[in-house]
Order: sequence, then C-alpha cells, then structure tokens
Amino acid sequence: MFSPLQSIVLILLMEMYTAFPRPGILSLPPLLSAALEIALVLLPVTTAFFAGRKLLKQSASPGFDAGQTGLFDAAISRLRMGTCGLMAINLWVLNFGQWVWNINGFHEWRIAAQAIWLIPILVSWCGLWTVSHYVHRRFDPNGQNADPDPGIAVGNHAFPAWRPYMLMNLRGQIPFLAIILLADQLLRLAVNGLNNSGLQSYATAGSLLATLVLFVALPWMLVRCWDSRPLPDGPLRRELQALAAKWKIKFTDIRIVNTHYLIPNAAVLGPGRISRYFLITDLLLESLNHDEILAVFAHEVGHAHHRHIVRYIVALTALELIIISLTGLVMSYWPGHDQLFNSLDIVIVGMAFISGFSRISRQCEHQADWFAARHMAGEFARPPAPAPRPVIMAIPDPSDGIAAAHMPWFLEFENPAPPDQSTSPTPLMAGAGVMADALMRLSEVTHRPLDKPDWMHPSIRDRVNLLFRLANSPDECARFERRMKRLNKFVYGLVLLAMVLMFWP
Ligand SMILES: [Zn+2]
Repeated sequence: MFSPLQSIVLILLMEMYTAFPRPGILSLPPLLSAALEIALVLLPVTTAFFAGRKLLKQSASPGFDAGQTGLFDAAISRLRMGTCGLMAINLWVLNFGQWVWNINGFHEWRIAAQAIWLIPILVSWCGLWTVSHYVHRRFDPNGQNADPDPGIAVGNHAFPAWRPYMLMNLRGQIPFLAIILLADQLLRLAVNGLNNSGLQSYATAGSLLATLVLFVALPWMLVRCWDSRPLPDGPLRRELQALAAKWKIKFTDIRIVNTHYLIPNAAVLGPGRISRYFLITDLLLESLNHDEILAVFAHEVGHAHHRHIVRYIVALTALELIIISLTGLVMSYWPGHDQLFNSLDIVIVGMAFISGFSRISRQCEHQADWFAARHMAGEFARPPAPAPRPVIMAIPDPSDGIAAAHMPWFLEFENPAPPDQSTSPTPLMAGAGVMADALMRLSEVTHRPLDKPDWMHPSIRDRVNLLFRLANSPDECARFERRMKRLNKFVYGLVLLAMVLMFWP
C-alpha cells in the first residue's frame, strides 16, 4: 500500500537528535541558512522535474517503452528517500535542529519541534508529487495509456486532478508520521507523570503496554485516515469471507482503498481479530481476474495464518530490549556518556530494524505466496461447481464518489472454466500459476521492473520463480520449510536473549 519506510527513517533521525541535541556544524547567518534551506528543499524537486521532462520528450518518439514510466516512479520514490538526508543536514549541519529545540517548552512537547523539523521535508515531498502529477498528466491526459495491452480489460481512467492526487499522497503518508509521533509524545508524558508521582517501577510496564495498545490501534486509525470504505456486500465479499473462514481467520472488515486507480495493491493490517483489516485497492480489483483476486486475497490470509505481524512485533520488541540492555551494560562501564549512548542506541535499533525487518518480511512474502498457491490448488482440485455464480447482489451508492460503472466487484463473475489439464499438469502448478499471473499482472499495470525488490517484498521474478520451483519439487518444499523454521527459531532466540538480559543481575 503506502510504504512507511521514509517516515520510519525520519522518525529515527529526529529521535536520535533529541536524545543527543547539539549545535549544527555550520553556524551560518540566518538569511544564508534560509537560502541554503530553500535550495536543498528544491534540489530533489528540480531533479525530478528534469527527469520528467526527459521522459516526456522520449515518449513522443516512436518505439517508446512504457516501462520507462515505472523507472520514473522509482526515481521519485528514491528522491523522497533522499529527503531524509535533508532532515539529517537540517539537524546536524545547519542550525535548524538546535534553533527549534531551544524554543521554550519544546523539550517537553517535542512533537511541536518534530512538526517544525518536518515542514521542509513535507514541502519537498509535495514538490515531488506535483512533478509526478505533471508528468503523468501530460503523458496520459485522458487515461489513453492506462493499459497498453488491449487484450485485458482495464478501464481507462483519466489521471486525477492535482488536488485529489496530492490529497491521496498526503493521506497515505502523514498518518504514519502523525500517529507514531503522537503516541511517542503521549507515552513520554505518561512515563514522566509516573516518575514524578513516585511510581517509577510501573513506567517500563506502562510503556510496554502502551506500545502494545499502539500496535492494536494503529490499523484502526490507518484505515480511517486512508480513503477507504467497506467492500460492499455481494458475491465477491462473500467469497472472500468464505476463504478467510476456511482458514479460521477472523477479521474486522474487508475494505476498498480509493487510489484513483493508480496503485494496484492489497494488504492485511493488525495482529489479531479485533484490529485485523484486509485492504484491496480499486486498481487491483479492476486489473485482476476472479481467480487472481482470490489468489491475492489468499496471500493476505496467508500472512494472518502464519501470524507474520505478531512475529514482526515480537522480533522488534525483543531486539529493542536486547539493544537497550546491552547499552545499559556498556553505560555502567563508561559512565558520563549517557546521552551519546542513548543516541547510538537509536541508530543501532533503527539500522537493525530497517535491515532485519526487510529480511524477515521478504521470507514471509514467499511464505504467503506459497500459502496462496496451495489454497488455489485446493480450489482447482475440486470439481467445478455445476451452477453459475450468483448475480449482482448490491446496488452501487452514487454518493460514494466512484462512478458506478467502475465497480467491477458488483458485476457477475463468469462461471470459471475448469483448469486446463493439458497445460497445468497438477493442481499445485495451476495454483502457483494463478498466483504468478496475479504478480506479473500487477507489475505490468504499474510498469514496475520485474527484478527490483523493495523494502518488504522480494522481486516479482524471485517470487514467481520460487513458486514454480516449490510446486514442481517436494525437495525444494522441504528446504523452504526448513528455512522458515530457522526463521522462527531465530525469533524465539531473540526473545530468549532479551529475557536473559532483562533479568541479568
Ligand atoms: Zn504480502
């Protein structure tokens, strides 16, 4: 869905600075500082602008490869990552960090300081989104290029106007920052309150409890901040509900996220039944066929079935406890450097989190893919249903803002043809095939390069290749199962180490 990586890096940088605030390396006069700041904010925006102009020029020439737009989108997201460097320069090089931090009352209400530090970054992001909007709009003013392959029916949606486009991006990104910073602020106030009233011993338990509450409440809040609404009752919803029920996965809701048909994605949020949401974007529903939608949903159910989110939370909490305990140990040997060590602590936790989470998450993605392939194999192995599927069950609500014509989930699904036995020798191969088709289709719709992994996902090519290897070879399956078991043992090992260190005399 919307990637939280940039927000996490920004939060880590600000936490590091507040743990060990110091004057900037350069002490420039205020006017020069401001001029430099504006130049730094505009630098990624102008870079994006020239890249976009080049793309538009290329698109006019014959033989233009639409895959170039995917590379442009990747460049925009890299530039947005680069703005984290701008935050670091602001805090440690220019005097912006110190200047804001020294405002009266900001030590206590650090969220106010953090909000001001974020302003130049958010301005830069808005500039990048504006350039991206300009380029896509010029490239594709009437949605004519929405689907280069006329064989697959995807509606031609005009690229949204600037305002809704910006709103979508802001609503996608701001909630991560706002909710985490707000939770951090409230937690600090609560811990200070407990310490001041002589209840220090409850402070650690209190903060652990608050973190847990945050993990449960975060999905609920994100779903409300993003532009989403429940998947209307109809044949598709009932089918997805039945799929989740088959694997005994309880959830709060299945929701459609409105991305103006720009992002084809699905996700599951929340560690347990009271805050578990399945999200599917409008473009995903429109891009995939019936079996592919089921396969993607089964992938998300796979995440829940294997308790991946719980595993992330446990691993992260254990890691944090280990690093804090070790730092405490080091600090007792070298007293007097508490601020420095606290700041280093955040660097280590942050780096371990960003690289460790990525490794664990990519394994979990493979596991969810494999779960989906096996689920679909089970479906294909059953004899095809004799009666046609149910017809339209719900009437679209015109007040929803999405044109009723663009609501494929209301339409009747054709009776699926039984798998072609000549091309799919086994149900397992057919299951892997439908999941692979869905993945390939998603990369085709976004023009995302097949070989590019992202922070949480392996590359599409790796995912597809592994699926077919697993479907083909029991040996490969056994190896894969062993790999996942090792991952589990690693997480248990972290928890054990954290406990030992916590209760070390
Ligand atoms: Zn996934």
